[in-house]
Amino acid sequence: MKKFIIACSVLLAGFAANAQATAGYWQQHVDYRMNVDMDVKTFRYTGKQELIYTNNSPDVLDKVFYHLYFNAFQPGSEMDVRLKTIADPDKRMVINKGTKEEPEYESRIGVLKPDEVGYIKVQSLTQDGQPVTYETKGTILEVKLASPLKPGVSAKLAMDFEGQVPLQIRRSGRNSSEGVALSMTQWYPKMAEYDFEGWHADPYIGREFHGVWGNFDVQISIDKEYILGGTGNLQNGDEIGYGYEKKGTKVKRPKGKKLTWHFHAEKVHDFAWAADPEYIHDTLETPSGVTLHFLYKDNPEIVENWKKLQPRTAALLDFYNKNIGPYPWKQYSVIQGGDGGMEYAMCTLITGERSFGSLVGVTAHEMAHAWFQHLLATNESKHPWMDEGFTSFISDLAENEIMERNKPNPFENAYRSYFMLAMSGKEQPQTTHADRYAENMAYSFSAYSKGEVFLAQLGYVIGQDKLMETLHRYYEDFKFKHPTPNDFKRVAEKVSGFQLDWYLTDWTMTTNTIDYAIKEVTGEGEDTKVTLERIGLMPMPVDVLVVYKDDSYETFYAPLRMMHGIKDNPYPNLERTVLPDWAWAYPTYEFTINRPKSDIKAIVVDPSDLMADVDKSNNGMTFE
Ligand SMILES: [Zn+2]
Repeated sequence: MKKFIIACSVLLAGFAANAQATAGYWQQHVDYRMNVDMDVKTFRYTGKQELIYTNNSPDVLDKVFYHLYFNAFQPGSEMDVRLKTIADPDKRMVINKGTKEEPEYESRIGVLKPDEVGYIKVQSLTQDGQPVTYETKGTILEVKLASPLKPGVSAKLAMDFEGQVPLQIRRSGRNSSEGVALSMTQWYPKMAEYDFEGWHADPYIGREFHGVWGNFDVQISIDKEYILGGTGNLQNGDEIGYGYEKKGTKVKRPKGKKLTWHFHAEKVHDFAWAADPEYIHDTLETPSGVTLHFLYKDNPEIVENWKKLQPRTAALLDFYNKNIGPYPWKQYSVIQGGDGGMEYAMCTLITGERSFGSLVGVTAHEMAHAWFQHLLATNESKHPWMDEGFTSFISDLAENEIMERNKPNPFENAYRSYFMLAMSGKEQPQTTHADRYAENMAYSFSAYSKGEVFLAQLGYVIGQDKLMETLHRYYEDFKFKHPTPNDFKRVAEKVSGFQLDWYLTDWTMTTNTIDYAIKEVTGEGEDTKVTLERIGLMPMPVDVLVVYKDDSYETFYAPLRMMHGIKDNPYPNLERTVLPDWAWAYPTYEFTINRPKSDIKAIVVDPSDLMADVDKSNNGMTFE
């Protein structure tokens, strides 16, 4: 049957927010000072790291944990073994030695030679000058402190380390497929987060990250001809040059084969950089005062796309500033590197040999992560859907506007992928740890698509203007923190005035599905009786559109009793009848249309198509 879809215009409502700290909430703080010396021939580097680590917890700590992510890129690591044992390994990380029909995958990590593996080796570690004992367990360093760290007290942890940059296999590494020399992400000994939920010393198996907020002061010495981009603000642009100098300044480089790049970043929870001798470096000042940097290879096939990308990136920044909240740092860098697209503090590494649409798409997505990860830093191991899903939601909305796609439902693809997942028999609840999905497919669709639908569908539940207001208030209340799913739900509840526990519970903690149907429509003289049915386990409020043969429209709204509220009319230009609420346990629900059945052309459940109903075949009836 013909689809009757009505686009909901997403209103960009203003708001007045009162930041509200969650009672009992705390997070640690760490300030990094690092001096790193890179040998671009051997891809080995040495580092001196000084951390001022502050214990904001109510607990006395006798241990701390660091991540040593590069150790994942060694034969026999958890990452390697997981690649060899999962049914659908990441194609970037394997070589298919079989055929397309009968693949035989070889782990690229499993065949790394000693001079190609990645590692971080700790050479010494002290706490306030006292040597500590430590043990490396795969990608985690467990440290027994020399003296217990009391609540409210800081310690200086000083480390000497050496590292080797692995061949580019996943996210970071040397000599990417597009010829970028150094993608330096997850490259330094990084303090694991200890927060209100405990320690998060997750091994690096495949999925993403969680970190401690703080300030980074990083000096990187590297051969003079290498051009860098990354997290933070370059402090010595006038002696570096390459477009980092103040306009009109004559660059004065110190003598010697190497340059030392001095970066400083405030209030971030990670530090990444990339370097290549062939980078083109462009900058663009935006009206909001944020400088955009673009670093990409001098490759004639991509230069035009990368130039065209620049004004679109400024438009994206503007869109996110307006729709979530102001970007708080002074710069953002879009850097060619890595193996796809990955977000870092104040920058992203993306592959650059793409069509223009794909280049804007990946930038839109990764830049949105500056909000949904680097400002609103949900634990990505525990709640990847809040990170990937929210990012995908806002970037689809942004792209729809900036690329003038004007789709009535910009989230359509996410719904399609979610339906595939729900029907696949392989769905796991979104509460699953990101590394412990049985298959990569189930992880991706759950985190990206089902996560995106969580927000798009919340717009159906509470109204589009309330959804956008929720995002604003979420930003205000939880920026520079680690919000949880319940935190987000509470914001949506406060903004809308509705109770939404059922929504969070069923959507994220179960694999319950939504299926509402029109069961029966019967003429009763001058009236028409409609019987709706709830077939799926997940509750929902129900919008019904009635189309008459004279081409007029009318809507009916059956509120969900456990929500205790009525959303604003999503179609203010159509007459809406608010019906008595529908309590979940009743499988059927009846209401009356005060017109004869012979007047009716069609009846449709959810004309917005934003309710993720897994069986649309029973959502409409047409009458001749
Ligand atoms: Zn993402």
